[in-house]
Amino acid sequence: MDTERAERPGSADAGRAARRDTAVRAAVAQGLLGPEAPLVGLLDVAGIRKSAAALRAAFEAVVAPGTPVLHAFAVKATPLVPVLRLLDEEGIGAEVASPGELALARAAGVPPARIVLDSPAKTPAELREALALGIAVNADNPQELDRIDAVVRDTGTRSPVGIRVNPQVGGGSIDALSTATATSKFGVALRDEGAREWVVRACLDRPWLTRLHAHTGSQGIPLPLMARGVAETYALAEEINRRAGRRRIDTLDIGGGLPVNFASEETAPTYGEYARLLRETVPGLFDGRYGLVTEFGRSLLARHGTVVARVEYTKTAGGRPVAVTHAGVQVATRTVYAPGAWPLRIAAYDGRGRPKPGPEVVQDIAGPACFAGDLLAEGRALPPLEPGDHVAALDTGAYYFAQHYGYNSLARPGIHGFTLDGAGGASFAVVREPQTLQDIVAESGGAHANALTTLPAPDGR
Ligand SMILES: *Cc1c(COP(=O)(O)O)cnc(C)c1O
Repeated sequence: MDTERAERPGSADAGRAARRDTAVRAAVAQGLLGPEAPLVGLLDVAGIRKSAAALRAAFEAVVAPGTPVLHAFAVKATPLVPVLRLLDEEGIGAEVASPGELALARAAGVPPARIVLDSPAKTPAELREALALGIAVNADNPQELDRIDAVVRDTGTRSPVGIRVNPQVGGGSIDALSTATATSKFGVALRDEGAREWVVRACLDRPWLTRLHAHTGSQGIPLPLMARGVAETYALAEEINRRAGRRRIDTLDIGGGLPVNFASEETAPTYGEYARLLRETVPGLFDGRYGLVTEFGRSLLARHGTVVARVEYTKTAGGRPVAVTHAGVQVATRTVYAPGAWPLRIAAYDGRGRPKPGPEVVQDIAGPACFAGDLLAEGRALPPLEPGDHVAALDTGAYYFAQHYGYNSLARPGIHGFTLDGAGGASFAVVREPQTLQDIVAESGGAHANALTTLPAPDGR
């Protein structure tokens, strides 16, 4: 958990920690962070652009020239319109899995041809909309394919359509995120009796069914297992095309799920390592016969977000120092509820937002919520914290502050994107306004205060 671990010069990691330190100092100096705004999310625009460039370069290096490649960002990782717009400018599309995520992608201006719809529970109306817009759709199961059949019969579609398969290659170290286990809820389980043959027939019978989709990776899944999932999907595409006597499946959507190294500043694994492993494991996928879609989420954004919170109080309990801060379960839900699976690095800053020096003491970093387990970090060695200092939860750009959890009606913090000005300062732009108390009341039934007291009494009294 060493925040100062070496960054490889020239890599996408270079300068990230220094940019973050500058941004925290500037956020305090400019009053974005302080007694009245004790919690913010910061997004590193240069870092996001670098990760997008690294992703593009990694696959450009392994595909045959002219291969169509669509990188579709998994919107659930960071569902923020300005982030989707930035990624769109970087040539990255959007993978959406709900009407809300589709609305965000469209609000960001992502063109339908660069959107992929993957939700496991699409309604008929969602399917009709997506197929009318030309958005790529991956059918999750036979019943959904029936619904798509009906739309295609009625209106036709320009959308590329695929089937999601589960190669059942096994899970990783985090059960809730293992998508390719024998009993995973996603896709058609290929090793189940008759399933593989059903997929082959479904494709042979439908000229418009041209894609296979598998998302076999996630945090905690080893790369070779991810690559095996892709290899199994490729083998199925080859079988379908052989039996069709032509190239019926023309695109493989290989999902996302590259793990993020939350333990240090070093990006490991890199997109380049994964792309090279895929080419070694599944060379035929890169010889130009197949287009590619990827759906990376966490690995594109996690590194570039930082939650910064003010230390309100410090105390000791049972001899252990505890810093009570404004960042807890509402912005770091997974870490608080499953600290073993989702540890975060914490950095200490002083009252002016400068990295805090000093001999480290073991302490707990607590959040503001009213339950004992609301700890951002337990027993962590950090410089002794004092009221008015700041703590930063690092690598929280995906699945953290963008996914607020409304425990204790704690307000969603404001999120600010930043770039550096080259003179030791930073420019900020609002990505998401902080939630106000009026917002909280309105979203909690404030317009319906009498709803329950004005219902007729049950016995007519
Ligand atoms: C969540 C998800 C992703 C992104 O996963 P990450 O681990 O964030 O990269 C991609 N595709 C699908 C279908 C998903 O459900």
